[in-house]
Amino acid sequence: MTSLLGPFPIQVFSDQQSGRYAVASKDIPAGSLVLRGKAFGIATTHTCRKECCSACFNAYTLTSSLPFSCPTCSSVYYCSQSCLQSHSPLHTQYECPRFKELNSIPSSTSAFDKLLASIDKTLESDPRTVSLGAGTTNDLSSLMESCYDRNDIMSMARWILNFCIRVEIECEFGPRPEDDVPSHKDYLELVPNDECLSPAERIQFHGLYHLFAGIKKEKGNMRKPFSQLFQEVFPSVQEFVTVINIRQCNGFGLWDGEAECMGNAVYPAASFFNHSCEKNLERELGMRRVGGDDSGADVGVIVESLDSLQLEESIGSEEERKKREIWKALDLQVGNVLYAKRDIKKGEWLTHSYVDGDLEREIRRKGLKDVYYFDCRCEKCERGE
Ligand SMILES: [Zn+2]
Ligand SMILES: [Zn+2]
Ligand SMILES: [Zn+2]
Repeated sequence: MTSLLGPFPIQVFSDQQSGRYAVASKDIPAGSLVLRGKAFGIATTHTCRKECCSACFNAYTLTSSLPFSCPTCSSVYYCSQSCLQSHSPLHTQYECPRFKELNSIPSSTSAFDKLLASIDKTLESDPRTVSLGAGTTNDLSSLMESCYDRNDIMSMARWILNFCIRVEIECEFGPRPEDDVPSHKDYLELVPNDECLSPAERIQFHGLYHLFAGIKKEKGNMRKPFSQLFQEVFPSVQEFVTVINIRQCNGFGLWDGEAECMGNAVYPAASFFNHSCEKNLERELGMRRVGGDDSGADVGVIVESLDSLQLEESIGSEEERKKREIWKALDLQVGNVLYAKRDIKKGEWLTHSYVDGDLEREIRRKGLKDVYYFDCRCEKCERGE
């Protein structure tokens, strides 16, 4: 996995006490690029899909929705014709038929509640639920219903679909030759903190597993249906729990610059950095909020830059061409770019922050404990600030 770090000034060590951590391999002046990481598992939320491009992940301030979309599944929107075109080999074959199946998750409140109630029933009769010590069946009777609304489930489904497709593409075309492109294996090497899950969370994941594995097949889909792909990638609940937990502990919110989280992504290379409430790395907002008064100008710039990415004249076999198109579509996805916030000395730990470092000490620490399951021992916390 350390090959992901390629030319960047980073060395990774691990020891009993600190686990894995990254240090500067040389003096890094303030403002220098420290990492440009690529995603494995990236998706916009269901709610933000119409204002965030599914190819390049730029976010737009709009009164309605982005100008281009897929009329077949209505699940992806694009900022430009060029994004639509570049993404289409990936979308048409891999995403679109599965999105159509995911759309069968009912949108009327009563039908959706009925679905969750049926999952709750399944959980109650699942022997694993009892063995997890979840208390009485009464506690369980509305477990799924109380935790998830349709938007949550759809957002989770979008991300899971992206993850499964990445695995599928890897199986089909083999790993990519470029060092900096993470693989399924790189993802699974990240820390899941499985042991920190509460019994209730564990059961909810069981519920989500039942739900996704039971998505209805759409007749006439040429491609492997979602439920089958899902169960091939996650043969049992445990594989699913691990992947979701890794996302929980290593995921980056795709913030749009207006404090709205438009989606989620995991950048395996960026997970080498530990947390500190006074980080020395600054993340460049990969996702730009474009639009408002000067939207016209900004969209123009993006179209131009994406046009320069158009495929070269196709050469090689059909299979080769297809592979290059798919990889190209994946390369449009926004990266995780980290810069040195101040001068960093060789050997110093490289850190970024999972929470807003300006928050009060106790609020920061509670957030870190609740979401990432650890007690922060950074210098700022140790000083009591
Ligand atoms: Zn775009
Ligand atoms: Zn579609
Ligand atoms: Zn701290």
